[in-house]
Amino acid sequence: MPANGGVFTYRLPEGAVEPGRRVLVPLGRRTATGVVLGPARSLRGELRDVLRVLDEQPLLPPDVLQLVRWAAAHYLAPLGLAVRVALPPGIDLREELRGALTPEGDALLDGVQRALLPGGQEAATRTRQLLRAVREGRALRAAQLRALEKRGLVSLSTSEARPRVQAPQVELAAAVPGAQPPARSPRQAEVLAWLLARDPVGVPVEELLAAFPGARPHLRKLAARRLVALRTEPAGAARLPDAPWGSAVVRETAAQSAALVELRAALDARAYAPFLLDGVTGSGKTHVYLEAIAHARAQGRGALALVPEIALTPQLAGRFRARFGDDVAVLHSGLTERERLSEWHRVRGGGAGVVVGARSAVFAPVRDLGIVVVDEEHEPSYKQEDRLRYHARDLALVRARDAGAVAVLGSATPSLETLRRAQDGRLRTLRLPERVDGRALPAVEIVDRKTTLRGRGDPALLTPALSEALQKTAARGEQAILFLNKRGHVRSLLCRSCGAAVGCPNCSVALVLHRASGAAALRCHLCGHEEVPRPCAACGSDDLVPLSAGTERVEEELRALLPQARVARLDRDSAGGPGKAAALLARFARRELDVLIGTQMVAKGHDFPGVTLVGALDADGPLHLPDFRAAERCVQLLAQVAGRAGRGEQPGRVLMQAFRTTEPAVVAAAAHDYHGFARGEMARREALSFPPHARLCALRLQGNVEARVQAAAERLAGRARELQRRGGDRVDVLGPAPAPIARLRGKHRFQLLLRAPEHGPIHRLCRALGEVPLPSGVELAADVDPVALL
Ligand code: ADP
Ligand code: ZN
Ligand code: ZN
Repeated sequence: MPANGGVFTYRLPEGAVEPGRRVLVPLGRRTATGVVLGPARSLRGELRDVLRVLDEQPLLPPDVLQLVRWAAAHYLAPLGLAVRVALPPGIDLREELRGALTPEGDALLDGVQRALLPGGQEAATRTRQLLRAVREGRALRAAQLRALEKRGLVSLSTSEARPRVQAPQVELAAAVPGAQPPARSPRQAEVLAWLLARDPVGVPVEELLAAFPGARPHLRKLAARRLVALRTEPAGAARLPDAPWGSAVVRETAAQSAALVELRAALDARAYAPFLLDGVTGSGKTHVYLEAIAHARAQGRGALALVPEIALTPQLAGRFRARFGDDVAVLHSGLTERERLSEWHRVRGGGAGVVVGARSAVFAPVRDLGIVVVDEEHEPSYKQEDRLRYHARDLALVRARDAGAVAVLGSATPSLETLRRAQDGRLRTLRLPERVDGRALPAVEIVDRKTTLRGRGDPALLTPALSEALQKTAARGEQAILFLNKRGHVRSLLCRSCGAAVGCPNCSVALVLHRASGAAALRCHLCGHEEVPRPCAACGSDDLVPLSAGTERVEEELRALLPQARVARLDRDSAGGPGKAAALLARFARRELDVLIGTQMVAKGHDFPGVTLVGALDADGPLHLPDFRAAERCVQLLAQVAGRAGRGEQPGRVLMQAFRTTEPAVVAAAAHDYHGFARGEMARREALSFPPHARLCALRLQGNVEARVQAAAERLAGRARELQRRGGDRVDVLGPAPAPIARLRGKHRFQLLLRAPEHGPIHRLCRALGEVPLPSGVELAADVDPVALL
């Protein structure tokens, strides 16, 4: 990181410019675009002039800049980097200058006048060539354009927001109203019937092909027969398939009304008011978000709703659209840069007052912010794990505080950090203790997997109890979800003679065996390394046995158990893109599928009323993670998957298969007693002095040469301890130790944990440690309030 944090000082040609506007400046021998932060406090060395001020009004509004400054300071990141994170995607800070001929330039090029031509013949020809290039829109170097501008022949503009990618087109298919299915081709008839039942405006062809793999020729024939219309249009923000899910709220529950009374009063008070909306799965939290936001909109104030992973929760975005129409801007990674940028400008310009987006939307330039919602606030995906390592939930609170806004953190399983804030009175708790319509939470049974270990060979993933439940569910025509937090076929290969697992040559993790497309392949889930199975690297034996299992294996077992069932798998391997995942979920919602198998992607906030059975295949699996939050994460995942069952008329049933059936995390999840678990866990954290009872900062060092990295880590730790002895602050220094993933992408990793009751001492210590020189080839990154300690 540059010593100045990417912040430079320039002289402004004419007076002050508001912070947040972009400027063109000389930087070394280049020109660069920067964002004005404000008056410099001190001057050092020679000052150069700003070449040009770019935006009419600040690109980043003052409240966003303030948040950026807070984030840079808190997360110990260069301010320049934090500014970049807050800028909309596709706004490139590299300049792209465009020239247009002035009337003088036109006159000169057309030979009407020659007074402005340089003296020599050669120079005159060259000028004409350049002017012609400008007229024809060909690329010129910035210096050439600027020279022409000085002579008054060309006027310059920066091509602001010129997207690097073109907006993609989406192909839509719509049934022609009243079309009669062709009698002699059943496949075409099937496709047509499906389309007739869908939105008459059209359905993305991608979605149709997900429902009918290989149906492209049938679609073409239907179009040729004029039974189906095909058209292509630019993919808009609204192109994630929306599905017929989510029932209308007829009458608010008493708990919903009570929560809304408090939220509306807090909005009317127009002061910072943070809330925890603690509501069990299916208790109708979304309705509360929507109505509170509607109140803020009625006051003329803006709203921000953060969701963990928007591509997986299209129905949530759909509900916002249904409620607020065009007033909603949805910022998600499924959009192209151009679309995101245009949505961003719509928000900045006040054309959209409600923003729904994933973590980076916390920086969205919402006008006059009145309310911030963070749905599923416990989700680890709110933490950005590279560059600026921020936590969007925590930044949301900071932003709400500075804006005098209401903040609502919603969850059925609040993080211990949030529960602690509530206990300390820093958040007010609103409770939705019951499901809507008095529906019961599903009955949960714990099934012991140890019985499957008897006998030789590979233990089955589906226990007899779960197999039987699946058969019964299928017989009743109801749906099931099977959850396993590992993708792939079989987790790993183990050498039977020496016991070594086949590991990644770059990372210290076992390779995962995949078997989707015919041949078996081993893949590293961290660096993407792939290889075909070969004899054991440690002892040369080729007696390798598969160990444990992933989602692909479940699919095989299930197909053997229920050959008739329509089964699909949803994980990072099968999903492809956000559109595919959403299309698959939409099919499941329409009950075109019977069983959905997947990783935590199936556990998100989906609302599928047809699901009556949920199986957690390896319920205690997440406990293996070497992380002090492993148990918390495990219960949260289990509560979330269990919450998918019994959301409709029929009651739900959940089977949790585990080897360690008495673990508090598993037992609490089965008893729907998250809060009981949280109390015990809170005490354990307190005893160990871990968050939320202390603040942590992880210092991670990595490099190619292990000894060097280790030496650097030890030097840093030594220096930290020395500073402790001299200074008054109390900061515990834990480590250094090899990181749980000791090698990643070929780099050796060590980590050091700093722990203190408050952030202040940690920040001070880190700043002092920033002065310690590092050997070349060793990189250091600080992670304040780390979420993953891997
Ligand atoms: P949560 O996010 O708390 O798990 P949702 O907001 O997804 O729950 O609500 C679950 C379902 O209940 C949705 O289909 C929603 O439309 C419906 N719902 C919400 N409030 C009510 C209500 N008062 N009466 C009937 N249905 C409701
Ligand atoms: Zn071996
Ligand atoms: Zn790897």
